[in-house]
Order: sequence, then structure tokens, then C-alpha cells
Amino acid sequence: MTSDPRKQHLLGTPLTGFAAFCAERKWPVYRARQVYQWVFEHGVADFDAMTNLAKTDRAKLSERWIILTGREARRQESKDGTSKLLLEWPDGAASECVLIPDETRRTACISSQAGCPVGCTFCASGIDGLQRQLTAGEIVEQAVQIRALCGDPVENRRPGEDPRLSNVVLMGIGEPLANYDNVLQAIHTINADWGMNIGARKITLSTVGLPRQIRRLAEEDLQINLAISLHAPTDVLRRKLIPWAERVSVDELVSAVNFYFEKTGREVTLEYLLLGGVNDGPRHAADLANLCRRMRCNVNLIRYNPVAGLGFERPSSAAAHHFVEQLRARSVNVHVRKSRGIDIDAACGQLRRARPDSGPTGPVDKPLQPGSNKAAPDGVTD
Ligand code: SF4
Repeated sequence: MTSDPRKQHLLGTPLTGFAAFCAERKWPVYRARQVYQWVFEHGVADFDAMTNLAKTDRAKLSERWIILTGREARRQESKDGTSKLLLEWPDGAASECVLIPDETRRTACISSQAGCPVGCTFCASGIDGLQRQLTAGEIVEQAVQIRALCGDPVENRRPGEDPRLSNVVLMGIGEPLANYDNVLQAIHTINADWGMNIGARKITLSTVGLPRQIRRLAEEDLQINLAISLHAPTDVLRRKLIPWAERVSVDELVSAVNFYFEKTGREVTLEYLLLGGVNDGPRHAADLANLCRRMRCNVNLIRYNPVAGLGFERPSSAAAHHFVEQLRARSVNVHVRKSRGIDIDAACGQLRRARPDSGPTGPVDKPLQPGSNKAAPDGVTD
């Protein structure tokens, strides 16, 4: 979406589409790649800075194309290096995206929709429902703008890797598989050698689990990682936490996950948000372990960071440890993600809702709870 209807969003245009524009103008065949190199490799967001292009060509590009459409409405930086951006699109919709640096990795966590239609009962992002789908360009742009925060492009350069951003996770606001075509196009651009050139195995898509779309994704010939936001091992409990689980049973999910593994050979990650006193008991650990026996999967545990007014609690560190031990005793491959951005509004959806015009329920009226439910692997300590 651009503010000027005569202009197209370059980040939402595959190389072939832009090459067709160049061909119409009888520009040299290498021109399209040249421009994409400026944008994706050098991080240039202004055609005038593309100094190896004729001035007249730069002017023609500026008339018809725009590179970045999002305005940085807010930025928060944590002591641990986590940075969170709120990008506002020309129509006023906004997207949260986060940079999570962790030793050698720099991960961009990006959103797939403005708002979220799923309405998980523990999550701030779904409170006001879906505002609109994000375009492919807006999804890519979040990764590009996050990468721009990463500093010197030659720093930490390793062969074959983007020196600034190593991983992209679609774990921000929204259900990616409910915006399938735009998300797929964005993943292709993030992965392409003419685009952000981030390896498919460094890209993760996280979904509450839409079986038909999981099967479709399995047929896409992509080697991306799939994460399922499980959060409960039984239908009864899952339906209390995730309204869309009313439409999809755990059995259907297992079947789709197994299909994904058969087609791609990629083990699936089950995301399990530990909610104090809700899904962190011995019975839940036993049920989860039994479920894991039915799929090729590993489990990512995340300790919940409370959102004001939603009524869920963060489990204690001891309870989380105990849960992990029970899973490990049953041979489940389990990791625990540490909370990042503990000193900023890092829990998904909180920054967007904190805007003065954040929707019918208005802004949250007290300092937002710290911590992130979407973070990098580590221990369970406070
Ligand atoms: S947890 Fe994810 S799917 Fe659920 S409401 Fe929040 S953003 Fe949507």
C-alpha cells in the first residue's frame, strides 16, 4: 500500500515484474538486478542515491516506484540489544517488528497481518481483531527496516550469509497462513538471491495450525521451518486458549504436520506458551509428551509475559523447570526460549495497542508489561 496510487511498492514486486518495467523502457537487461542490488544489498531507499544510474532514469524510477512505505512511528531499544519498531503504513495501519540479536544470530521477527483475526485469549494482538492483510511488500519491508538497524554491513561478515540479518521469523502479529499468497511472495523475496538472500532454513513461519494451508505449504518446495503454536495438548484446553482451534482438532493438526514432514523432511517445532496454572501441570506435560510421539517434532517452551487485563500469569521459574524435566524424562526434545526485551514493551501486540488511536478499546492505560513471548532459545531463569 503506497500513499501515492501512481507508485508501486518495489519491495512487493518480484524481480521479474520489475524487469518487465525496465524492458518496456528499453533499459539494459542488467538494470533490474542493478536496482535490486542497491535496495537489498546496499540498503538504499532513495533512487537518487543509485549513482551508477543516469539521472533521467532515476527520475523515471521515482515517478513510478517507492522503496519504503512505512513510517517509523515508534522505536524501543532494550538493554539486551532487542529493538522493537512500530511501522505505520500510509493508511494508518501499523505493524510491529523486532530485532533480536543473540550471539551470532540477528533475527527479525515480523508481522503478517495488521491486527489478528484469531483472538487467542492470552494475546494483546488479537484483542481488536483483524484490521487488514499486510501486502507482500509490507511484510518484506519490516525485515528490510529491521536489517537497517543492524549497523555496519561489513561487520561480522561470513561467507554466504547476510552480514546484518541472519534469520527471519514470521511470529509477529497475525496468522501468516491466513494471508497465504502475500506471505509466500514475501518469503520468496526474503529468500531470493536477488532479494534479501536469507536461506530458507533461516526463515520460520509460525501458525496456530490451518491444516489445508500447511499441506499447501508442504507442496511449495521450500525448506523453511514450520512452527505450530500449540499451547495446549488437548482439544478442550486448546479451544479455551485459541478460538480457531474450534475448527481444527489436534488430530487434524497431527495429520497435517506429518504430511509436512513427509513432503519436506523438515521437523516441525511445537510452540508451547507456559501459562501459570493453566497448561503447566504434570497432566499437561504427560499429554504433550504423548502427542509428541505422534509427530516428528521438537518443543519450544516460552514462559508467558502477562498482558494487563487478560488474566493469565507467568509461571514461576521452578514450575517451568519442572515442566521441562517431565518432558525430558519422556524423551521429548525440548528447548526453552528466554525472554528478550524485558525492559521494553516487547510482548506481541502491546506496542501497536499503545498508540493513542489504537482501536475501539483505546490505548492500554498503564505502563505495559515487560518481556516478549517471541524470543530466542535459552534457559528458564527469571
Ligand atoms: S498469539 Fe498469534 S495467532 Fe494468537 S491472537 Fe496473538 S498474534 Fe494472533
